Amino acid sequence: MEIGVINGLKDGGRCFEHVSQFGLNVCQLQSWDMTLATPEIADAVVMEALSAGVRICAFWGGVPGPSKWNFTEGPVTLGLVPPEYREERVAALKRWADFTSRIGAPALITHCGFIPENMTDPEFEPVVEAIAEVASYCLEQNIEFWFETGQETPVVLLRVIERVGTGNLGINLDPANLLMYGKGNPIDALDVFGRYVRNIHVKDGLCPVNGDNLGKEVRPGQGKVRFPEFVRRLKEIGFDGELIIEREISGEEQKWDIRRTIENLQLWLG
Ligand code: MG
Repeated sequence: MEIGVINGLKDGGRCFEHVSQFGLNVCQLQSWDMTLATPEIADAVVMEALSAGVRICAFWGGVPGPSKWNFTEGPVTLGLVPPEYREERVAALKRWADFTSRIGAPALITHCGFIPENMTDPEFEPVVEAIAEVASYCLEQNIEFWFETGQETPVVLLRVIERVGTGNLGINLDPANLLMYGKGNPIDALDVFGRYVRNIHVKDGLCPVNGDNLGKEVRPGQGKVRFPEFVRRLKEIGFDGELIIEREISGEEQKWDIRRTIENLQLWLG
């Protein structure tokens, strides 16, 4: 389980110092900016990553339009669930799939949104079809398509993976999200979809304390994930993917937290 960090795509691809400064050699590259999804920038990324000695284990692609990270507007803004944005976002994810393939990363990751828990919901099938369209396109590009956990319960993700059935689907498990969205416990979730987990976001958080807002994100080790036990369980199920540190703050405090988390992970990994 190699330790890496989330790295925002910027400066035309000259952005790998953010990884190297921590002594790390692997990252997930991330962007929400579709203007960066060009072959020229992809080629620059390849050169820059090579010269920095950094491997990109996956690309995290955001989609156009609004994104509200709460329970009131999240269901009508996030991912492929809102019908009014679906077609545009499927097209955006295909462009990110091209980009992912061109930079030589093995997988594209995104949040698919509040996929209906109830499979008889009229929106369930159309959402599954949209995901299948993206997954099939990724298959043609020889890459996988991974769900970042958050807005769905673990069993819903398992169900969608079974329904889509393209064989190139996986899960980017963000253990904090399961708790912050009140959707599950990450350690128990491994019993549901553990065999599909490909990457981990090393992020921690607290449970929601009201019905409208997510729980709070905190530095790994200070929330409800229970990292020592989580890491032990990942080992037990034979997980050997990357542990990608994600701290959703900025500046010096973020850097300090990332360094502390690397030290803690080394202890937790034993
Ligand atoms: Mg995450």
